[in-house]
Amino acid sequence: MREQPNQRKTLLYYVGIAALIMLLLNIFVFPSMLQPQVNEVTYDEFLQMVQQGRVSEVAYQDDQLVFIASGDNYRPAYFKTGVWPWDDSLTGLLLQYGVRFSAEIPTQASPLMSFLVSFVLPMVFFVVMWQFIMRGMQKRMGGTNALTLGKANAKIYIEAQTGKTFADVAGQDEAKDALTEIVDFLHDPGKYANIGAKLPKGALLVGPPGTGKTLLAKAVAGEAKVPFFSISGSEFVEMFVGMGAAKVRDLFKQANEKAPCIVFIDEIDTIGKKRDNGITGSNDEREQTLNQLLAEMDGFDGRKGVVILAATNRPEILDPALLRPGRFDRRIPVELPDLQGREAILKVHAKDVKMDDGVDLKPVARATSGASGAELANIINEAALRAVRMGRSAVSQADLEESVETVIAGYQRKNAVISDKEKRVIAYHEIGHALVAAKQKGAAPVTKITIIPRTSGALGYTMQVEEDEKVLLTREDAMNQLATLTGGRTAEELVFHTVTSGAANDIEKATRLARAMVTRYAMSDEFDMVALETVTNQYLGGDTSLACSNETAAVIDGLVNDLIKEAHESARAILESNMDKLHELAAYLLEKETITGEEFMQILEKQEA
Ligand code: ADP
Ligand code: MG
Ligand code: ZN
Repeated sequence: MREQPNQRKTLLYYVGIAALIMLLLNIFVFPSMLQPQVNEVTYDEFLQMVQQGRVSEVAYQDDQLVFIASGDNYRPAYFKTGVWPWDDSLTGLLLQYGVRFSAEIPTQASPLMSFLVSFVLPMVFFVVMWQFIMRGMQKRMGGTNALTLGKANAKIYIEAQTGKTFADVAGQDEAKDALTEIVDFLHDPGKYANIGAKLPKGALLVGPPGTGKTLLAKAVAGEAKVPFFSISGSEFVEMFVGMGAAKVRDLFKQANEKAPCIVFIDEIDTIGKKRDNGITGSNDEREQTLNQLLAEMDGFDGRKGVVILAATNRPEILDPALLRPGRFDRRIPVELPDLQGREAILKVHAKDVKMDDGVDLKPVARATSGASGAELANIINEAALRAVRMGRSAVSQADLEESVETVIAGYQRKNAVISDKEKRVIAYHEIGHALVAAKQKGAAPVTKITIIPRTSGALGYTMQVEEDEKVLLTREDAMNQLATLTGGRTAEELVFHTVTSGAANDIEKATRLARAMVTRYAMSDEFDMVALETVTNQYLGGDTSLACSNETAAVIDGLVNDLIKEAHESARAILESNMDKLHELAAYLLEKETITGEEFMQILEKQEA
């Protein structure tokens, strides 16, 4: 590490403060410490103390009587009293009470004491102060020791025992398979070297946030029982200018010394962004760091057993140079878990929590399609928190069900004030969704309807859970979903002959789905298999960018509108022919606030019979 000017400034600043404190101590504190505490008493008080037999020693010193007497708790204390002639009666009195006459009673500290106070104490003080300063600096400078100037120190990133193993990672079997080979290599690099096989130097873990990429990297280190150098991409760039590259150099130097080992660069996209962003010079620091990383990856000998793992959720923005053979040439997808994976993840986290005997995690897994590992871990934790809130000692099925909704839609807003009139609108809206869903062939069954508002802003919602996990979306499925989405608004129209803002979220979702049908799934008649939009960041929300002319964009807008109109009409047809049920179910929901899918189906079927 090079010494930076502002670093020197802060150092001076601290030394200045320390000197000032020393000065103040010297003026105010030390002098009094160097002398025994001497109390002044009047002459009659002195005589009284003598008569009480408390005085043990007396001396005539500097025109004053100085004496030692036991205090309230019989510890000797120093006293003095004003000038007074020493006459024979006093001598007699003192003799009578057995007071010793001393030549001198020290009111000055011993030389040893003054040495301690004026020399040793400041030293101790400075050492403590210095350590305090160094600690503060270390923190500010991202953990590097300011004393090792001119040399960065990456030792601090070692986490010898991550404490994680593959058993902590549920699901993700493909990723684990791919990483097992790396673990094996780290156990015995020689085996691979003997045959002349080269293992990839780097593997890139790619997937949405919260799917366990960081966890997997730690598990690899835990399984291989090798040192684990972990650093986050952002740590390279937020350092002083020029530090990023030095840090990379040092990291690899240390890794080479510690081989076999793992170097893990989390969130590599922060340094690994494509370098062609046009504005030269603006990002020199990041670019230098990336260049250094590329050079180091080429430079080190892969046979020694240094494996570089990196994780990102934005693989599309990585510089292609990073991905070419010899660098991060192995790409390990870490996708959102499927039904089985979700159940396994729930099980792993449920192990840490006390559960009722009968708790079944399968329905939870089923209801959380699309949830990441982190969200599932959160669901278990929320359930445990709820159990504590309710004063129970184990997590029940109900806790789990409620926590799924908490994680999806936020906490219940029990004391939100909603007028009866609006509650009615909301009830009809939700039953509208549910009825349209139930009356269509192949739509996912309704499992729960509620009009209890949530902190996410939802005023109510209808939960649908697919019976089997689907990976394909047919045109019919998509149209069903669109109709269900428009069902809420349609019910409002039919019953109240007006529309409200309550459907905003439905409208957004319907538009996104209809747009995807036209632009990405080619489900419209107008366009053949043409990609009119491309997904720009697959793992972070799936934003899209238009890849067509303005004229086509206008046509797309028309088609999207047509699709939604078609869905809206079919929803209206369904509700119009089921008006009785709509009223009955809405009244029931209004009364109960939350109803299950079974209750809903019972009422629906009872009427039909
Ligand atoms: P990422 O790095 O992909 O964003 P993390 O590895 O940081 O995600 O995961 C966050 C947390 O989510 C983990 O600490 C773990 O508790 C939980 N988690 C994620 N995926 C899994 C999994 N497959 N098995 C068990 N727990 C998981
Ligand atoms: Mg991570
Ligand atoms: Zn709605």
